[in-house]
Amino acid sequence: PAQAVEAPAATSAPSGRLIPAVLGADLEVPVKGGRLVSYANLDYAASAPCLEPVSAAVAAALPAYSSVHRGAGYASQLTTARYEQSRHTVRAFVGARPDDAVIFTRNTTDATNLLARCLPEGTTVVVFDSEHHASLLPWERSVRLAPPAFPGEAVRAADEALAGIEGPKLLVVTAASNVTGELWPIAALAHIAHRHGARILVDAAQLVPHRRLNLTALDLDYVAFSGHKLYAPFGAGVLIGRRDWLAEGEPYLKGGGAVRSVGETTEWHDDPEPRHEAGTPNVLGAIALAAACDALTATGWTELVCEEERLIARLRAGLASIEGVHELSLWGEDHPRVGIVSFVVDGYSAREVAEALSGEYGIGVRDGKFCAHPFVRHLLGTADGGCEDGTASAVRASIGIGSTQEHVDRLIEALRDLVGR
Ligand code: PLP
Repeated sequence: PAQAVEAPAATSAPSGRLIPAVLGADLEVPVKGGRLVSYANLDYAASAPCLEPVSAAVAAALPAYSSVHRGAGYASQLTTARYEQSRHTVRAFVGARPDDAVIFTRNTTDATNLLARCLPEGTTVVVFDSEHHASLLPWERSVRLAPPAFPGEAVRAADEALAGIEGPKLLVVTAASNVTGELWPIAALAHIAHRHGARILVDAAQLVPHRRLNLTALDLDYVAFSGHKLYAPFGAGVLIGRRDWLAEGEPYLKGGGAVRSVGETTEWHDDPEPRHEAGTPNVLGAIALAAACDALTATGWTELVCEEERLIARLRAGLASIEGVHELSLWGEDHPRVGIVSFVVDGYSAREVAEALSGEYGIGVRDGKFCAHPFVRHLLGTADGGCEDGTASAVRASIGIGSTQEHVDRLIEALRDLVGR
């Protein structure tokens, strides 16, 4: 089973506990002049590299994999057991209630769209314009709120919006912004939502790779995230939460596995997991996602958070020390955040900066609007569409397990070089 796999290589965390190694840490990339340099991957928020224990868990499952849920053969039974164990692991990882549904999806976008299809008739969704498009766009009927000026304003605005809505309502909010890394007051927002008889969906895509999340303690109704941002390969995500809407919603995919019987009429499963997981699921993706959960839990959050905070503080201080480099922030420099920083550089488009960092220094960052167009426009103070020409865009550097001080320092030196030209 995935959780029995040990990390073959590891680095020592401050207290001596082991932080697992990532694949690709020794990657070399060509830069201007044809030189090869070691790759500084500062693009974890897009997709994080795979952890060694995750790779080992997939390798362990590969030799005897078989289709799940329908076979009597040993390999099928073993794979089914591993797949279902992955569900339990993910449930425990986010501290879900025993009766919460845990549905494997392709990614966070798939998870929010699945929930959108299961909302009771007439549901109004309240969502901030600062959301990633995955959480902003799937809703048939929504009330969109401007990015709040401070955390308390988020709670006040949600309170006011929810109070004015009749019928079923859902508040959708990010736990950690994919643009600024800032943490949102999800406990207070859950409280407000429930006071108005609403439910809350938390987009935890950028939180779970960096911080422990406890759905029960925070009293969240639904949580969604992606494996590929959590150090597992692409193709698996998850929606976790209350069963009733999911049990009644139209099956997300229609086909084998979602039905109890097909004759004159079709009888769909009431249990949300089979109901919405028709077809052969991404078993290896689920095993990988669960192995990543196990690896993070085994490492311990204190170790991970300490190391990340040390590096992100160094990165932000470095950015602040360069004239002409401006970090984007919604709630000010002291607001807590995960290992994500977006910035702009005077005199350069975001695309020019990202291309120079890659082509001349071997540093990978992301540029653009990060699938959060309204939010980036808001942060940049631009009213136009910005299009894709790199003007109304920003550069994003993001870190995680495997990031080093050398990567951070290399970025700062490269930017200093760039602005000094
Ligand atoms: N939500 C947030 C906060 C994200 O950062 C992302 C990805 O960038 C998503 C949702 C969508 O994730 P995926 O592309 O895996 O569906």
